[in-house]
Amino acid sequence: MRPLACITMILTTMSAVAQTTDFSSYPVYAGSDLGLRYEASASSFRIWSPSADSAELVLYAQGTGGTAIRRIAMQRAESGTWTATLAGDHRGQFYAFRVRIGGSWGLEVPDPYARLVGTNGRRAVIGDISASDPVGWSKDAAPAFAGKSQGKASATDAVIYELHVRDATIHPSSGARWKGKFLGLAERGTKSPEGESTGLDHLKELGVTHVHLLPSYDFSSVDESKPDSTQYNWGYDPLNYNAPEGSYSTDPSDGITRLLEFKQLVQAFHKAGLRVVMDVVYNHTMTTGTSSFDQLVPGYYYRQRADGGYSNASACGNETASERPMMRKFMLESLLYWVEHCHVDGFRFDLMGIHDIETMNLISRRLHDVKPDILLYGEGWTADSSPLPDSLRAIKRNAYRLDGIAVFSDDLRDGIKGSVFEHVEKGFASGKAGMEQTIRFGTVASTLHPQVDYGGVNYSKAPYASDPTQVVSYCECHDNHNLRDKLAISAPEADSRTREEMQRLAMTIVLTSQGIPFLHAGSEFLRTKKGVENSFQSPDSVNAIDWSLKSKHKDFHRYIAGIVRMRRSHPAFRMRRAEDLRANLRFLEGLPAHVVGYRIRGEAVGDTWKDILVIFNGGDDSTSVVMPEGGWKTFVSGNRIVDGVRAKDSQDLKAHSATILYRD
Ligand code: CA
Repeated sequence: MRPLACITMILTTMSAVAQTTDFSSYPVYAGSDLGLRYEASASSFRIWSPSADSAELVLYAQGTGGTAIRRIAMQRAESGTWTATLAGDHRGQFYAFRVRIGGSWGLEVPDPYARLVGTNGRRAVIGDISASDPVGWSKDAAPAFAGKSQGKASATDAVIYELHVRDATIHPSSGARWKGKFLGLAERGTKSPEGESTGLDHLKELGVTHVHLLPSYDFSSVDESKPDSTQYNWGYDPLNYNAPEGSYSTDPSDGITRLLEFKQLVQAFHKAGLRVVMDVVYNHTMTTGTSSFDQLVPGYYYRQRADGGYSNASACGNETASERPMMRKFMLESLLYWVEHCHVDGFRFDLMGIHDIETMNLISRRLHDVKPDILLYGEGWTADSSPLPDSLRAIKRNAYRLDGIAVFSDDLRDGIKGSVFEHVEKGFASGKAGMEQTIRFGTVASTLHPQVDYGGVNYSKAPYASDPTQVVSYCECHDNHNLRDKLAISAPEADSRTREEMQRLAMTIVLTSQGIPFLHAGSEFLRTKKGVENSFQSPDSVNAIDWSLKSKHKDFHRYIAGIVRMRRSHPAFRMRRAEDLRANLRFLEGLPAHVVGYRIRGEAVGDTWKDILVIFNGGDDSTSVVMPEGGWKTFVSGNRIVDGVRAKDSQDLKAHSATILYRD
């Protein structure tokens, strides 16, 4: 997440409240019935608002506008909660809450626990969430993603593909019927005008295991009441954490339709053998003083500075306080809902460095109990400073203290292609000198290895992962220039064919690194965002995936799919424990500058390739290395798959190329 134009709305009165409040004295509600419990005979509501002196449930006939049908005084209940019960079937009615604090009524806000919401998420809907189950939902199950005969999956068995719901199908070339919608990405058999598969079928063909959807909960920035032809946002502006985004549904006014279509997407992916990861943004809310959180319990859900003002580690106007029991509980219950009710298979935590380690480890334990092979990872950093000490937060250098949660390696990302902040800077793949130790560091997934000189690594000067399962390897995501654009800006002297080789090398490094590989949508066929660096609200003309690129760069795409297949077939690239890595992966010493090479004893880790050699030449010139003795076969030479060709004793390494050899 790195939008620069989050709307900031901090009410100074709220800061004053925060300044004078000791939140640790607030009661903690332990029950699991916050929000709405619907039955045809009655609907029950409960909110937590310990500082309120009155609370009201307000009913409406519509999701926005109009006047209230009824205002119902809520009853004070245990542990700072307020309750109301409506006899009879109120399905389809909308509701909001407001509370009175210190004699003043606040704003009406949607239920923070709302699962069904109306247009623009202004009000929640009374209804039965199970009415949103698609046909066959009770039989829906996540597919296995471990390699054959490997038993229980490890996070390193995953190949993640990051995708924005709208980007996937909004371009005419997607061939999808429901362009830009959850249903569009759930469609099978879609083709580009050139006859290439698109959308879900494309991901199946590419061979990835997990699709990671950019924010798909209800975000604020896109007006769901308007035709969507001109609106766009990544969605890092959370409004309702437990309801799907309306602009991706065919009817944003209908809470059931929103949820049904999200589930249909999950179901379609599961049927196709892929898993679904959600990008979640619990670290901040779109607005501060006017959010449901702050209207119901002023100050409580956010951290404050010493002077009482809201701290802002998200750079979006606020940061939530995961260490406070009811925020921790909110996150946990929200995540459990997405897994248990919506069958989601993993989460990517935006600015995870804002959350505290204790909360993240609790979340991990509880989610792994429900789904043992759930995939959890996040950004181990913040966008600004936080009052919570670094030692308590889930930042990258504390990754070894996180249990079953991985962090993104910006070391590898920028080591491969150059800093995302220095646009013209090159990286290893585009010819920058002195990046060998950074590539070694990425290869061993930021773990301890005797042949990595940590002083020579670009950012981290020490290992931060205790096992390769704790690191996500990548060189491109939705943030910053995409890889093709970055290479065009930083290597303008290279022709487009040369830059294509750089991109092949860059992606091969990611897909052969230990750790969890992560690809951004379209990088496998040279997608461009036309040089736009931060496209969080750029139009479709910048963000939409042009599927015609797939046939234009068919050879490129087939190469990447081949490397994905290789990784998934060879456990040597997916080691689970750092001790296996230290014992079985040896870097080749004495290589020319710009060259990194390593050898894996595949046999020792159950691979059919008994011995594997991987060599990357990031330099602008070709070079050669003498092979270790003994009958090597070539899998990749000069960024091309040439499986089975007998390797020469001296291996030529083209500029900006990967070489992969094996003995079987
Ligand atoms: Ca929305």
